[in-house]
Amino acid sequence: MASRTSLEYLESLKDGRAVYYRGRRVDDVTKHEFLSIAVKHAAMLYEFKRDGKFSEMANYSDPDIGLMSMFYKIPKSSEDLLKRHELIKESTRYCNGIFNIIQAIGSDALFSLLITSAKSGDSVLRQRVQKYYRYVVENDLAMAVAQTDVKGDRSLRPHEQADPDLYVRVVESNSDGIVVCGAKAHTTQSIAANEIIFIPTRAMVEKDKDYAVAFAIPANARGLKLVCRPVQEVEGLGTDDAPLSSKNLEIETLTILDHVFVPWERVFLFQDWKLAGELANTFATYHRFTAISYRSVMAELFIGAARLAARYNGIDAAPHVRDDIIEMILYKEILDMAAKAAAHHPLFDDRTGIAIPNPLYTNIAKLYSNKQFPNIVGALVDIAGGLTSTLPTTDDLNSPEIGTYVSKYLQGSTRYSGEQRFKLMRLIREIAGGPMTGYLMGLFIHAEGSMAASKIALYRDYKFERAEELVSKLAGVPI
Ligand SMILES: Cc1cc2nc3c(=O)[nH]c(=O)nc-3n(C[C@H](O)[C@H](O)[C@H](O)COP(=O)(O)OP(=O)(O)OC[C@H]3O[C@@H](n4cnc5c(N)ncnc54)[C@H](O)[C@@H]3O)c2cc1C
Repeated sequence: MASRTSLEYLESLKDGRAVYYRGRRVDDVTKHEFLSIAVKHAAMLYEFKRDGKFSEMANYSDPDIGLMSMFYKIPKSSEDLLKRHELIKESTRYCNGIFNIIQAIGSDALFSLLITSAKSGDSVLRQRVQKYYRYVVENDLAMAVAQTDVKGDRSLRPHEQADPDLYVRVVESNSDGIVVCGAKAHTTQSIAANEIIFIPTRAMVEKDKDYAVAFAIPANARGLKLVCRPVQEVEGLGTDDAPLSSKNLEIETLTILDHVFVPWERVFLFQDWKLAGELANTFATYHRFTAISYRSVMAELFIGAARLAARYNGIDAAPHVRDDIIEMILYKEILDMAAKAAAHHPLFDDRTGIAIPNPLYTNIAKLYSNKQFPNIVGALVDIAGGLTSTLPTTDDLNSPEIGTYVSKYLQGSTRYSGEQRFKLMRLIREIAGGPMTGYLMGLFIHAEGSMAASKIALYRDYKFERAEELVSKLAGVPI
């Protein structure tokens, strides 16, 4: 199969998966009032790939496999990584500035599994991963990746936890496969995925070996339960007052494994505790490269909103407004530059020849994007004013009794009507002053790994030798 239609994709989700929303089982995610937003958002990636304007960028003709999604093309050069960066950005733009994870994260995990299975020296395991990769690509599947365990007491290792299920673990193995229990947190778009890949979240020691497990299961696997977060962005406001998240939104789940059976052909790491950390890190590098790529486009939402708000408020020439917007430009362009630098200076895996984005540049930009995001929101609020908190609703604007007052008193610069300013402020309120803002704050600070995780990787990989030699020579002291 080359490229599925969005309709074929949506049909594939009607498979009896166990999805829960506010405590109730959902029969069909494609029809649910709120969950269908996330599912349709995922479907947009299939529309993007079939859109003539993007088909060259989004599809690849592999000599062996045939026509396939460009997301799944294994990067072997800087050029491949640069194309991937552009693909992630363009598909984010296509989805109104909201990242579409549905093939990006799966490919990030598949590339890291291809690398680590080759490193394991186990040819059966290597072939299993290759076969699974082919299955995903040939069927143009939608994927989620569950890496983050619920983790319990963060100061304890998996085997030290009071409840042994706080990290996903193998509870049984037999000649057919393994049985796994536990839960992963914050799994993005698992409800919209065909398959979910599970990988370890951290380095492990020998006593953690039952937790050193990676595998893939279909989203309707028996014993798998997907508990969605509530979509407060649209639940309370209604769709009119949530112009962005009523169209484009991703949903995370608490992903529970209650004695789920996984056949051996879907097990990609088993008790090899020494490789767990490497798999976790390699995935993190790919996924952070994905992050800095999509975040640079999400920043455009804030830049665009700030520029328009400045004009609508009649303050576009004010120096402090320009300073705010310059902060946003720095944010966007630093991420973009770092992603390009990471693509231009990749590492190459010895065994597979797969190109890995430069981890140092990737982690620097990821950390920068975490730390600076609150300032970007603050800059937009500064320009837009208190309406980010107090804007009346669309019902007020449309009311025969008070609508004319609302548009009269929302007039800003005479270049625009009060109603036009209301509509702009409605979007700004959503991204800078509503439930979506809180969600984005969590996403920008934590998704793709906490700040501490990036700092650990950065400090571990940084080459201090030259700086130390310089000072040692100058001071005449040993290193
Ligand atoms: C919107 C969103 C989408 C996400 N999507 C996915 C996804 O699709 N798949 C997936 O697998 N994950 C996903 N994540 C998870 C994300 O990677 C984690 O949120 C992140 O790694 C932080 O983990 P945590 O949430 O458990 O927080 P914690 O790790 O508990 O972090 C809270 C604080 O504790 C600190 N801390 C943690 N452990 C220690 C320790 N041992 N010692 C000292 N300090 C410590 C952290 O540095 C941080 O300051 C997503 C998260 C968000 C917010």
